[in-house]
Amino acid sequence: MNKETSFCIVGAGMSGLLMCIRLKEAGFTNIRLLEKAPELGGTWYHNRYPGIACDVPAPYYSYSFALNPDWSQKFASGEEIHAYFKSVAEKYDLLRHIEFNTEVLAAEFNGEQWQLHTSKDETFKCDFMISACGILHKAVYPEIEGLHDFRGKLFHSSDWDANYNWKGKRIAVIGNGSTGVQMIPQLAKEASQLTLFQRSPQWIMPAKNKIYSDRFKKAQHWIPGLKQFQYWSNRKTFESFTNLVLEEGWQRQLVHRMTRAMLATVKDETLKEKLTPDYEPGCKRLVMSNDFYRAMQKENVNLCTDSIKKITQNGVETNKGETFEFDLIVLATGFDPRAYMRPMVLKNENGVALNEVWQKEGIQAYRTVMLPDFANFFMVLGPNSPIGNFSVIAAAEDQTQFLIKLLKHAFKQSSKVIRVNKTATQDYNQRIKEAMKTTIWLTGCNSWYLDEQGNSATWPWTPQQFRKDLKNPDYRDFSFE
Ligand code: NAP
Repeated sequence: MNKETSFCIVGAGMSGLLMCIRLKEAGFTNIRLLEKAPELGGTWYHNRYPGIACDVPAPYYSYSFALNPDWSQKFASGEEIHAYFKSVAEKYDLLRHIEFNTEVLAAEFNGEQWQLHTSKDETFKCDFMISACGILHKAVYPEIEGLHDFRGKLFHSSDWDANYNWKGKRIAVIGNGSTGVQMIPQLAKEASQLTLFQRSPQWIMPAKNKIYSDRFKKAQHWIPGLKQFQYWSNRKTFESFTNLVLEEGWQRQLVHRMTRAMLATVKDETLKEKLTPDYEPGCKRLVMSNDFYRAMQKENVNLCTDSIKKITQNGVETNKGETFEFDLIVLATGFDPRAYMRPMVLKNENGVALNEVWQKEGIQAYRTVMLPDFANFFMVLGPNSPIGNFSVIAAAEDQTQFLIKLLKHAFKQSSKVIRVNKTATQDYNQRIKEAMKTTIWLTGCNSWYLDEQGNSATWPWTPQQFRKDLKNPDYRDFSFE
């Protein structure tokens, strides 16, 4: 391995851009960043529904080394976040590495190099392959009878048609996760009539937005350390809530009080009852919104909790036989968090596909970043990364730093191939499984975190533990050839 060593990063979203920056900082410049979309930004390019924002405060939802003094508000809009990632890509001269409209369809390791095949019918080789495909990129379309019969407009939240004029229309939103809850207040402002089809109610945490004044922004430019203070204080506040997930304590009590106080703002008792969950707050990812309940009490907004029997040509029919007519149906039905880099077909040097391995052994990774059967293959935000209500950027920073340390070690030893030990991976995952049992996620709700066997896609310890585990590689767990 030398400075000519070649890298292919798949995905030019937050984590792909970050990996590219880290490699360049470490002196590796032979990098191709392959992106299936025509633009960078990942989630923030694809998701453009009305009301899209990040419910993690912007000063913390930022790269720690590229803090932005100019955020306009605490919960930045999707558009502003997308612009931030574009500006970082320019600042770090990443654009020349990116190949847009290039989807990696398949990749196979030949014992020394990865051979990639792309949607442009191109085949090429690189020494290391890094998946930075994000966690929530594969939309889930619900299995509802008649979905394709609807004659009006229908799309998934991540495929919002900006050319469609939804104002003044009759709109159905199916799903009330963070996405559905974010779009409802916006749609309610100008829809002639809006119906939310809710399968399970959500606990809602207040999220008071704050517009940052010009004075504050100027101060962030000029006062040394102020941006950093904003980053670290927000990060500390969020991380202090970790125990909500792990054990009974003041965090659970506070979140109980806050979510119940929000619910108490719903005046109509029948509506309030329909909006009241029967599980612990935090069991599903906490939804944050100051204006969802207000929107649900508007005259043009209706909540339907009967299950959907089928989609008809004109709208929706419930299992109680009630029919609704709509112009637009929005599927805010979430994503498949277990897709990772798939549908890409990844094969190791023995011709075994990752699909087969994961089907047999379950989805697992070594400390979220490597797979034992797949040499020279890295992941950013791989299985069991700390997702949930934290900033995934902080987690990706720990992961990329870890990977760079591994690469530097291999570089020193003139090794070309890095493998991770299978037993070390299995032991680690056994500990994850054990620890998961006592988390709030397994207290009896369905959520996108859990698979059919009840395994959670999340991290079962504190963020501090994550940083510790990813701080320095334990070189005994690897072989360098
Ligand atoms: P989600 O949390 O998985 O919610 C999907 C919703 O669709 C749920 O209400 C679900 O009901 C419902 N649903 C699914 N299939 C259905 C069916 N067949 N019939 C009726 N209802 C159905 O998805 P999401 O809202 O897109 O959010 C996913 C994640 O994206 C979030 O948890 C978060 O991590 C991230 N996100 C973050 C932000 C942010 O501001 N940071 C914003 C948006 C999204 P059940 O609850 O009954 O399953």
